[in-house]
Amino acid sequence: PSFYHRSDLIFQHGVLKPAIIDIKAGTSHSYCNLVSDIIELRKQLLKNAGTSIEDLKEARVAFLCPNGYDYVVSQWSIWSAGGNAVPLCITHPSSELLYVLKDSQSSIVITHSDFQEKINDIAREAGIKKPPTLIPTDNSRRAMMIYTSGTTGKPKGVITTHANITAQVKSLVDAWRWNDKDKILHVLPLHHLHGVINALTCGLYAGATVEMMPKFDAAAVWNRWMKPDNDLSLFMAVPTIYSKLIQYYKENIPKEIQPLATKSCSQFRLMVSGSSALPISIRNSWKEISGGVVLLERYGMTEIGMALSHEYEIEKRYEGCVGIPLPGVQVRLISEDGKDVTSLVEQPGELNVKGPNVFKEYWNRPEATKKEFTEDGWFKTGDIAMITAREKVFKILGRQSVDIIKSGSYKLSALEIEKELLSHPNIQEISIVGIEDQEWGQKVGAIIVLKNQESKLDLKQLREFAKDKLAHYKLPTLLKVINEIPRNAMGKVNKKELVKLFAD
Ligand code: ATP
Ligand code: MG
Repeated sequence: PSFYHRSDLIFQHGVLKPAIIDIKAGTSHSYCNLVSDIIELRKQLLKNAGTSIEDLKEARVAFLCPNGYDYVVSQWSIWSAGGNAVPLCITHPSSELLYVLKDSQSSIVITHSDFQEKINDIAREAGIKKPPTLIPTDNSRRAMMIYTSGTTGKPKGVITTHANITAQVKSLVDAWRWNDKDKILHVLPLHHLHGVINALTCGLYAGATVEMMPKFDAAAVWNRWMKPDNDLSLFMAVPTIYSKLIQYYKENIPKEIQPLATKSCSQFRLMVSGSSALPISIRNSWKEISGGVVLLERYGMTEIGMALSHEYEIEKRYEGCVGIPLPGVQVRLISEDGKDVTSLVEQPGELNVKGPNVFKEYWNRPEATKKEFTEDGWFKTGDIAMITAREKVFKILGRQSVDIIKSGSYKLSALEIEKELLSHPNIQEISIVGIEDQEWGQKVGAIIVLKNQESKLDLKQLREFAKDKLAHYKLPTLLKVINEIPRNAMGKVNKKELVKLFAD
């Protein structure tokens, strides 16, 4: 038994390497396990000694542990608390132990739970009031409360345990081949999963280096990349960030410098996009200006961490899709009439997710927690997806509540329409929404932001442009041109608000 209250996500160089293999307990403990357990026991020691200063002043601290992990943690935590370590022999009879305790004038004795009864009596006789017992591992404790992005309503506090975070991190480290040679340029907000788990915690867990910018700034990012000492290997961002980087490249980097900018991208071993759907035009432009970097797209949410991801191999990063389930994550698709359609192709269904990555509960919302889980423990994401016929990978069609437009007998994916229409040369941003309609149920409404003031676009031109790309029933029948699409901190669009633009 071990005795910590934390995940194994404390970091330092060499974290992934096993430090101690405990044959008796059948466990292997990495250096990061060791460091965090030492810190935890150190805290208990200082508390038991009743000292408010962080020092035991070389007070003797005895400890009785079998050869194994607990012995190592005990010794180093006594040292880190400033104590003088007094190891006891597990095969000694009680009289011998009593002698050593008295003679050493130990003020605390730490014991492995196997010896607790034995040591209690002896410690009493030796006049030691406080023998802390090593308490069992508890990775089920709550570790973090991240608020959702608030795209569809008030943000919800999502509580994850240490075990949840550990599962989320290990899965990504494995799939994306994080390692201690990696260096990531971190530009994302840290109050959100993408920034804090995918980019920061994975990096530290893997023993990589995380270089943090205070916030995203297109000029600063390009400048950093083009520095001669650029040794970065990873970058992660949301689609709007890639879009801004592309815009900056085209408008602000002089033609003669552009090849240098392009070359600076080629050394990255991985660039990731996620948090919302990656438009095809952004994917293609990025490939063009970066000299062939194919963005790896993944799908996830605050409640589950990452669930689906393109595979690492470039040729498997299929356009418009989000790949396959990440290691350790179970995924299924449930159709509207309640059937499991995961093994079928082109059959939309709600994504359900299960696994150690899935959160514990919403903060102060027991009803919501209950509602979002099926009876057999699957989390209902509210997102609709399907398996593609050709590549047999997952494709996200959007949120059931706002992105699936029911028009006549058709169910349309707003995301799919957006992804295609954004390739229009005059369109800077687009959002497709369903507008209530007596005849059709819903009509397809497009809200667009034009590239610049000179560019123009009316509904007829938009439909003309789109007619070769999309089936006729997917073409917008309503259009609004606005100056800016309102987005939250993660660059996401609140469609329930946007629909109101068509209220007239
Ligand atoms: P709230 O739950 O408060 O309304 P939110 O759902 O936007 O906000 P997050 O947990 O940050 O909060 O986002 C998760 C959602 O982001 C997913 O449910 C999904 O709709 C969307 N998403 C994430 N990655 C992708 C992707 N690659 N493609 C399409 N959608 C994505
Ligand atoms: Mg959500």
